[in-house]
Amino acid sequence: MNEREKALLAEVETRLFISGEWADSSSGRTFEVRDPSTNEVIAHVADATAEDGVKALDAAAAVQEEWAATPPRVRSDILRRVFDIVRERADDIALLMTLEMGKPLAEAKGEVTYGNEFNRWFSEEAVRISGRYGANPEGTGRIIVSQRPVGPSFFITPWNFPLAMVTRKIAPALAAGCTVVIKPAELTPLTTLFFTRLLVEAGLPAGVVNVVPTSAAASLSAPIIADPRLRKLSFTGSTEVGRKLIAQAADGVLRVSMELGGNAPFVVFEDADLDKAVTGAMLAKFRNIGQACTAANRFIVHESVAEEFANRITERVQKMKIGRGTEEGVEIGPLIDADAVAKAAELVSDATERGATIVAGGEKLDGPGTFYQPTVVTGVRPGSAILREEIFGPVLAIATFSTEDEAVRLANDTEYGLVSYVYTEDLQRGHRMIERLETGMMGLNAGVISNAAAPFGGVKQSGVGREGGAEGIHEYLSTKYTLVPNA
Ligand code: NAD
Repeated sequence: MNEREKALLAEVETRLFISGEWADSSSGRTFEVRDPSTNEVIAHVADATAEDGVKALDAAAAVQEEWAATPPRVRSDILRRVFDIVRERADDIALLMTLEMGKPLAEAKGEVTYGNEFNRWFSEEAVRISGRYGANPEGTGRIIVSQRPVGPSFFITPWNFPLAMVTRKIAPALAAGCTVVIKPAELTPLTTLFFTRLLVEAGLPAGVVNVVPTSAAASLSAPIIADPRLRKLSFTGSTEVGRKLIAQAADGVLRVSMELGGNAPFVVFEDADLDKAVTGAMLAKFRNIGQACTAANRFIVHESVAEEFANRITERVQKMKIGRGTEEGVEIGPLIDADAVAKAAELVSDATERGATIVAGGEKLDGPGTFYQPTVVTGVRPGSAILREEIFGPVLAIATFSTEDEAVRLANDTEYGLVSYVYTEDLQRGHRMIERLETGMMGLNAGVISNAAAPFGGVKQSGVGREGGAEGIHEYLSTKYTLVPNA
């Protein structure tokens, strides 16, 4: 670690944040955070207990009414200041993300820009919450429809986008007038803790956001979710954990938002512009070292262009620079941990055992970091695990099709439905794909689609609810109908 990295880490507050105060865990325990590119311990973070979690909810519940009554313009101004401060500190936040998560620094900077847009977007949305007023059809009274904040909200976030997954929830909640308890991912809590300091700097009142990192996610979360004061649970992470949380949330009939796993098809038709498709594929696959819910998982390529597509991709992949994310020009950083490397290796070996061919990469690299080569596998056969499971690593798997119907059938042949990518120059075909693919989001000749102004979310087992866009704030608002009879 260099001096700048050390100085930045020294600046990060590593305790819990409850009711406007930084505090140690009630157990006095901490857990380690490691740099996945070196396996070095870079911080010890206070390890919140279930008791700390309930204290955090106490704090959020205590100020819910006051925060809901805070003028929208005031809430908006705070978020706007958060946006400005994050922009000023962008380089530090990006470096911190690279240190705890491993992504290349240029991508970390991109995430700061993207993640911070939620602060700006929802600062603008805070003052546009409206309802309607009208006569009932009988003409005997007035119908008033208004929007109220849902109430105290609990957030559980993943490690792969340590800033954006947090701002995507906190910004709309604050804009709507909800108070928050957040449990960041145990692998990457530092970015959330750093961001929390910036919230305070922007003037956020005590208790409105409370942060409880923990190594015991399930035991901290269960009592919070079971608490009758909680009104909303928003989770981003795997479908497996999401299912469990939906079941827990059922007892309290909580509002839930679930941003879960994906298994994105990337369909390349015979009429695609291959230059565009190759560029899009590199982004859709290798951004974040393949560790994105939106990562293209299954490349479904028309048999007439599959070989050329694979050759062009392979040429690019072989030039990719692997290394610590802080190094100049690195495009492939480490995977988050050794399990992730083992999973990528298993999926590749299952695919080759079933008849696929490795045309680039296919090896894990020696430690201490957890690196796996960017890899291209062609001729992937039906039934291969790589077509069913989220790869979450830099492995690009290509299967072929011959007709449009077959492409649609293959693309939809998954329990997930987060995002689909389609490359075609045929406008009518593009429109047919918008209608036929079972997906919450789609990139039509685009390999990256995330935008704070657009509704992000999935169908099927990729989740419920939307983050961002005009829809995002409604996840934190309840509709209230009032009848006022004519006098
Ligand atoms: P994960 O489900 O293992 O963990 C996510 C979060 O849940 C972490 O904070 C973890 O501590 C917590 N958690 C785990 N078990 C829990 C339990 N029993 N009770 C309460 N909390 C629990 O997922 P991950 O490995 O951190 O992230 C990768 C997954 O997230 C992938 O499946 C990816 O597709 C998904 N993801 C989805 C989106 C989206 O917007 N749809 C975005 C990013 C990541």
